[in-house]
Amino acid sequence: MKEGKLILFCGPSGSGKTTVTRHLLENFPQLSFSVSATTRKKRDGETDGRDYHFLTVDDFKKKIEQDQFVEWEEVYKDLYYGTLKSEIERIWKENKVVAFDVDVEGGMNIKKIYGDNLLAVFIKPLSVEVLRKRLTDRNTESPESLATRIAKAELELTYENKFDHVIINDTLEHALEKAKVLVGEFLSAPDEK
Ligand code: ADP
Ligand code: 5GP
Repeated sequence: MKEGKLILFCGPSGSGKTTVTRHLLENFPQLSFSVSATTRKKRDGETDGRDYHFLTVDDFKKKIEQDQFVEWEEVYKDLYYGTLKSEIERIWKENKVVAFDVDVEGGMNIKKIYGDNLLAVFIKPLSVEVLRKRLTDRNTESPESLATRIAKAELELTYENKFDHVIINDTLEHALEKAKVLVGEFLSAPDEK
């Protein structure tokens, strides 16, 4: 199959990558979201098959054995997340560009595999305190899960210089505008940047 383009927005939990990616999907019809598999519980407002393929740990492990993932990670203890090969194939078959929302490790693995046709952007919070506030206000995490995410953020923030571009998510308006410019330029450039 002919390989197409891919875009990747990475950053710590709460940095704003879902918000930015959703906005880009609304603005660029040629993008299609790679729906990851996960073993975490569905949040209010999430839909199976749209936000994630929600799987049991047993089903997730079966897919690992069957080599169905491009990459997978135990992002938090006992919580598995992975990019399915079938998602990338589905999107390229439609002649669309794959949009990922994965953690920094997954992002690095995707970069190793598809680097030539990939736009990799790091979304950076103003500070860990802002990150904590945004995650708290999002109201989706238990105190334990919030603490795990903040603890992991310190390490994730050290990955910034491994990405092609960094967007500081200060005001949403500024971050979305910058993301739109980067993606617009990437999509209009010939393959193999
Ligand atoms: P991630 O996908 O990286 O975990 P989200 O996109 O869910 O992060 O953003 C975390 C929370 O912060 C959400 O409630 C979102 O609405 C909010 N948010 C994102 N960007 C900004 C911003 N620039 N200013 C204020 N709130 C923001
Ligand atoms: P959340 O539980 O907040 O939806 O996601 C937690 C973390 O898992 C985020 O950093 C998100 O980007 C990451 N994630 C989501 N899907 C994947 C995936 O397919 N692979 C990897 N490696 N990480 C993922």
